[in-house]
Amino acid sequence: MQRLLRILAFAWASPYTLVGLAVGGVGLLTGGCVQRRGRIVEFHGGGVRWLITRLPNGQFTLALTLGHTVLGQTAAALDIARDHELVHVRQYERWGIFFGPAYVLASLGVWLSGRRAYRDNPFEREAYDETGDD
Ligand SMILES: [Zn+2]
Repeated sequence: MQRLLRILAFAWASPYTLVGLAVGGVGLLTGGCVQRRGRIVEFHGGGVRWLITRLPNGQFTLALTLGHTVLGQTAAALDIARDHELVHVRQYERWGIFFGPAYVLASLGVWLSGRRAYRDNPFEREAYDETGDD
């Protein structure tokens, strides 16, 4: 039963994981690296770093999660962000294909109510609360 739930969680989050693997694959072709940590595949460097630093606030983004992949600027950035990103992996496992829209709507909702779109987003609050940051 536990194994079946794990397989379903992977399938449920797989559309995002596939995007992460595609971005990570481009990263590998452009000088990046890959490593596995438990059920997570992490990519860093090369085109992955290039992409992250071009996102809004990307210079300050250590890593980001797409399904069961985590994209980081560097190996050290992944080490720092790992616990936080693991909370996001569990959120993808819970929300599946709905995670992306739910995250964006949550950011929009808090922003419209005058709070911070990123730090006050409930998905980020959960990640920061669980890792004891902030
Ligand atoms: Zn986060």
